[in-house]
Amino acid sequence: MSAAAAFDSARLVPDYIRQFEPYIPSKPDDELKKLYGCPCLHRLHNNENPLGPPKAAREIIRQMRTANAALYPSGDSYYLRVALAEHFSKHPDQFLVGNGSCEVITSVIKAFCEKGDNIITADKTFAVYEWVAEFSGYEAHLVPLDGFGFDDEGMLQRIDPHTKLIFVCNPNNPTGTYWTRDRTIRFLDRVAGRAVVVLDEAYCEFVEDADFPDGMELLEQYPNVLVFRTFSKMYGLAGLRVGYLAGPLELVDYVRRAYVVYSVNLLAQAAARAAVEQGEEHIHATRELMAQSRSVMERTVRELGLPYQSSPANYLMFQVPVNDTLFCRRLMRRGFMVRSMTAFRFPNWIRVSMAAPELMECFAEALAEELRSCERSTE
Ligand SMILES: *Cc1c(COP(=O)(O)O)cnc(C)c1O
Repeated sequence: MSAAAAFDSARLVPDYIRQFEPYIPSKPDDELKKLYGCPCLHRLHNNENPLGPPKAAREIIRQMRTANAALYPSGDSYYLRVALAEHFSKHPDQFLVGNGSCEVITSVIKAFCEKGDNIITADKTFAVYEWVAEFSGYEAHLVPLDGFGFDDEGMLQRIDPHTKLIFVCNPNNPTGTYWTRDRTIRFLDRVAGRAVVVLDEAYCEFVEDADFPDGMELLEQYPNVLVFRTFSKMYGLAGLRVGYLAGPLELVDYVRRAYVVYSVNLLAQAAARAAVEQGEEHIHATRELMAQSRSVMERTVRELGLPYQSSPANYLMFQVPVNDTLFCRRLMRRGFMVRSMTAFRFPNWIRVSMAAPELMECFAEALAEELRSCERSTE
């Protein structure tokens, strides 16, 4: 038998990989424009910041010396961690920076789970926790949301001796609900150190409510708390891929062992550092813009009679009376890219990211017209 005929790739692949359904990212904008015949396409599907990066970060990007592209960056994002430590009054070793916070999710799961272990999270939340657990061969216990929020009681009941990690998305993507400080503390007290609790605060910089908890504070009081944050959302650096985790020294030291160094590029490190050090004004400007756009969108869905879930972050989800995937395609033809929620287990819901208020007005018009045309075609 030839070597090629003898090779059976499936024999070498674990069951959990063979059974895992790969996630297919959307095509590049230019391809989509051709496909849908729209000359311009508004990206309202990825919760990106329409204001882009803070001014200081833009300056860094513009001034990058091309010769530096040949140099390896700091392998552990040294100066960025020093800046984070300064900003949050912590030790630099309490931070681990990754190629987007998605990379640190992987490191955390690698560091704590072994064969037979499981993680707990919600059924309708950011899917990466569940995906990484599953393609790594661990079970993900998905606790149904209680209404639109994380069910603390239900999650506590699912803890077993093999539970290593509990992922709480606060505020939740896509429903926008959050646990208050009191509720989070009650939960942490009742977990009582049986597992590591990860608070994913990807959107915390948008939240202005006084009862919203600060994970940076909680991780000083609870030795089993890790906090995830990202530069992709508020700081408008999604294209450079940089996010991080923070935690007690001992926990971070374990996660660091399961992390491949040099994964964060030079430009990302420098731009993120500038964003941390000089990002205050940008945060205020973004919050102001979001408040205006949120009020446009809330008014729109209310007037259209669509059930909706608003959020203190930069997205809002609403229900449409037709198939969400088809409806998204129709909006695409009108030049608006939004997120269909079937993959989030919310069939017939759509999530829209907040951009400039004027653009939200245009989106509102397209949405209303598309709903009317759906009505006509079902009559
Ligand atoms: C966008 C997002 C992230 C961040 O991902 P990056 O890899 O840092 O771009 C993490 N968690 C949630 C809930 C998100 O929505």
